[in-house]
Amino acid sequence: MIHKFTKRANQMKPSDMRIILTAGEQPDLISFAGGLPAAELFPMEALKKASEAVLTEDGPVALQYSPTEGYAPLRQKTLERMEAIGIQANLNQVMITSGSQQAIDLTGRLFLDEGDTVICESPTYLAALNVFNLCNAHIVDVEMDENGMIMEMLEKRLQENPQAKFIYTIPDFQNPTGRTLSLDRRKQMLELAQQYDVLILEDNPYGAIRFSGTPIPPIKHFDREGRVIYMSSFSKIFAPGLRLGWICADEAIIEKYMGFKESADMHSDGFAQRITSKYMEQNDIDVHIEKINAAYRDRCQTMYECVNQYFPETVSCVKPAGGLFIWVELPDTIDSRKISITGLEKGVAVLSGDAFFATGSKRNALRLNFSNTSEERIIEGMKRIGEVLHQELRI
Ligand code: PMP
Repeated sequence: MIHKFTKRANQMKPSDMRIILTAGEQPDLISFAGGLPAAELFPMEALKKASEAVLTEDGPVALQYSPTEGYAPLRQKTLERMEAIGIQANLNQVMITSGSQQAIDLTGRLFLDEGDTVICESPTYLAALNVFNLCNAHIVDVEMDENGMIMEMLEKRLQENPQAKFIYTIPDFQNPTGRTLSLDRRKQMLELAQQYDVLILEDNPYGAIRFSGTPIPPIKHFDREGRVIYMSSFSKIFAPGLRLGWICADEAIIEKYMGFKESADMHSDGFAQRITSKYMEQNDIDVHIEKINAAYRDRCQTMYECVNQYFPETVSCVKPAGGLFIWVELPDTIDSRKISITGLEKGVAVLSGDAFFATGSKRNALRLNFSNTSEERIIEGMKRIGEVLHQELRI
């Protein structure tokens, strides 16, 4: 039988996301491949209490269809969380989404016609690249250094692509590099966006996962004209299985998002929204975040020390101040795809850096996730990957 797929479906390439999501389900494998939060730190008892309360107090409503924009008390709480980091908005400017992945997907539907240009960091979040590719967008990437996107390069790209629709940026502890966009560059990016009249898509799921240094205000904080679409998520600070994220943008933009969300899933899981909201009423979520950050700080430190101890001296790596990932750049002679295949044979999953480049051509980096593995297993896994790297250099 011939499957009469769309052109879009036929273009779809096998995704590394599937490797990540299934690797998480094999207990013996040491997986540094995903971006999974530590499951043992999910606040289980408090969640049981919150779920029980939701079912007892308003079970039928929680299980009924509900408004597309999301459960108002939860939207209010996201508003307060944004206010605490310097974003001024009102309730009509917030919509709950099914994870921030849906927020990115809806953004593609809303802004990208075939051939439209998106400007991204290089490298960037692979599932955002997947969205933009499925929209048949033209992806233009901008090199980064330790302070994020390089502004001179961004300006050059804007000059070359005056019709670009938006700049996609992950300002804090970027996926995959762990880098943070400096304060000056945040302001400069907004100025450039104004000058060249493009939107900014600020994807910030990791901002609260900071374990050293001082927080930097989001780009949205400086936005006075609704040029920044801000999105974040409960996945990293709470539990990704609940699939809850949010978008904050001007009302006219949110209205449009709602039209597309209605077609996608009508609304995000109402029960999950109420459980999350109830949890936040009954508990201080920031105490929970401090607890996970403390564990991630230790795991990150252990992994970083292992890079220095077990990896060849020719690798380079900067310790991130937050987030879930360490990015390791390998000598040019090493093919990171090969390392990830040999790593799997040795029982360790790592992601080859090429997945995060729009062109997929740069094959000498690895993204290592530290949040979902105990320090003991981090040490074991890093020793094994270290051996694979030394072996590869000897060939
Ligand atoms: N944006 C970035 C940069 C991410 O790393 C992720 C998840 N790894 C997401 C968005 C999507 O997260 P979620 O849908 O779970 O909120």
